[in-house]
Amino acid sequence: MSLPASLRELSCADDYDPDSMPVARARELIRTFLVPVTATERVHIRHALSRVLAADVVSPLAVPGHDNSAMDGYAVRFADLAPGEETTLVRVGESFAGKPSGVTVGPGQCVRIFTGAVMPAGADSVVMQERASEDGGRVRIAAGAITKAGQNRRFAGEDLKAGQVVFRQGQRVHPAELGMMASLGIGEVTVYRKLRVAFFSTGDELRSIGTPLAEGEIYDSNRYTIYGMLTRLDCDLLDMGVVPDVPDALERAFAAAAAAADVVITSGGVSVGEADFVKQLLDKLGEVLFWKIAMKPGRPLAYGRIGGAHFFGLPGNPVSVMVTFYEFVQDALRILQGQREVAPLPTFKVALSAPIRKVPGRTEFQRGILAADGKGGFTVRTTGDQGSGILSSMSQANCFIVLAAETGNCAAGDLVDVQLLEGLI
Ligand code: AMP
Ligand code: MG
Repeated sequence: MSLPASLRELSCADDYDPDSMPVARARELIRTFLVPVTATERVHIRHALSRVLAADVVSPLAVPGHDNSAMDGYAVRFADLAPGEETTLVRVGESFAGKPSGVTVGPGQCVRIFTGAVMPAGADSVVMQERASEDGGRVRIAAGAITKAGQNRRFAGEDLKAGQVVFRQGQRVHPAELGMMASLGIGEVTVYRKLRVAFFSTGDELRSIGTPLAEGEIYDSNRYTIYGMLTRLDCDLLDMGVVPDVPDALERAFAAAAAAADVVITSGGVSVGEADFVKQLLDKLGEVLFWKIAMKPGRPLAYGRIGGAHFFGLPGNPVSVMVTFYEFVQDALRILQGQREVAPLPTFKVALSAPIRKVPGRTEFQRGILAADGKGGFTVRTTGDQGSGILSSMSQANCFIVLAAETGNCAAGDLVDVQLLEGLI
């Protein structure tokens, strides 16, 4: 498969500089490649969690199905309540959630009602029980207990109407969507098939856990951070282990990965020196662009196609792997999974509690700790040493401090952009 013509043109454009590719430009270029999966499957809604809907979901019924009470109290006719005075009504029935009273409330009457119970015919409002007192079937309603008709009553269809499109094709399913589908009685939905992602680490110095280390060797950690990040995106994974920096072995691994998966992700082997040799190999197997992204950490990045698969060649340094994954790969995978609206990670401004040193020129993703400032707001500071091999900085961080390329040193109190690493949904 070839790079789209537009990408070829872009890569010849005057502002295309593979030796200093701005972060936003690299994201834009990657997007021009991405063609989402089209195959679908029907799954039970439990298995739809984190998947992307392949068809609109239409509501077969109204939610709620009946007018019902928003609280425990008495269902009344608003017109019966004397303005500014206490009113006494006669209790003629009880309505429990799931057990309607079956009575019609006439003038001067009321029905004891509980949260979620069907409103009895004739009644239009609910007085909360704290504003009423009952004695031998007579209910005294305090003056001004409610101020308008319809108060404390939930209306049929106020959440969802029958026939309404509730979710659009291309929307990702979160816990709230699961709950809403259940509330509609929908047990199965159509989602896009899972994305198949193959990944391996490259490097002669790497050993897998469970084997002893010789001098100069290190354990392969990138395959585990990549595994973790991919698992959260609900991909089908093919872990291909460690591949040494040996041309034949690498060629076999790239070819096998591309044949088996939609996306191939590797780490290492794209830095200066190593890249030339991997580049030659990939030129033979596919079409791959090598970029030095104007960012820190994560400067070298390869992107392109091998056979029919998308390829991301991430740097080797453990922090760079995570930063480039979150900043480039994650959104690309979401698009490939069929998600329609993929918004960039939300960024917001927080004041620094300590200065940061930075040289202008590259976008920096410093690992930050966002903490309460004791005055109802938040401040942020870095985790300390920002070396791209210091993976503990990712573990200690709860956010990235994103410093734009042109930014220089920052002082305590300066507002900086922050991206949260953990989200609620
Ligand atoms: P490279 O990009 O292959 O030159 O690797 C850059 C640095 O990251 C070197 O110090 C490597 O030893 C280290 N590195 C590469 N791959 C891994 C890995 N899978 N796990 C841990 N460290 C790695
Ligand atoms: Mg290497």
